[in-house]
Amino acid sequence: MNEVTTTSIPLCEECGASPSSSFSHFVDPATNTGSWKFCCGCTSGKEDYYIEFSRFFGSQSETMNWLAHMDEKTWMDWHNFMQMVQRYRAAVPVS
Ligand SMILES: [Zn+2]
Repeated sequence: MNEVTTTSIPLCEECGASPSSSFSHFVDPATNTGSWKFCCGCTSGKEDYYIEFSRFFGSQSETMNWLAHMDEKTWMDWHNFMQMVQRYRAAVPVS
């Protein structure tokens, strides 16, 4: 089993101080556009929507259920989400 450890989790894109713990979606009220970031608890209450890693990566079926659930959202921007995924991959610390 691949255990997710804190050493394999990139730092929060918002504060840069703590390991990220969720994929979070923010809406800019000025432009009404959304963007995805991986964040820690520092953005609690500021995000429009978030999925905690412990749930998203909880099991194979949970990951698939989340992806299907997100696809049902009319506001879901997969391109923006995947840009975040690429940043997440690039930010994983080399151990
Ligand atoms: Zn943070």
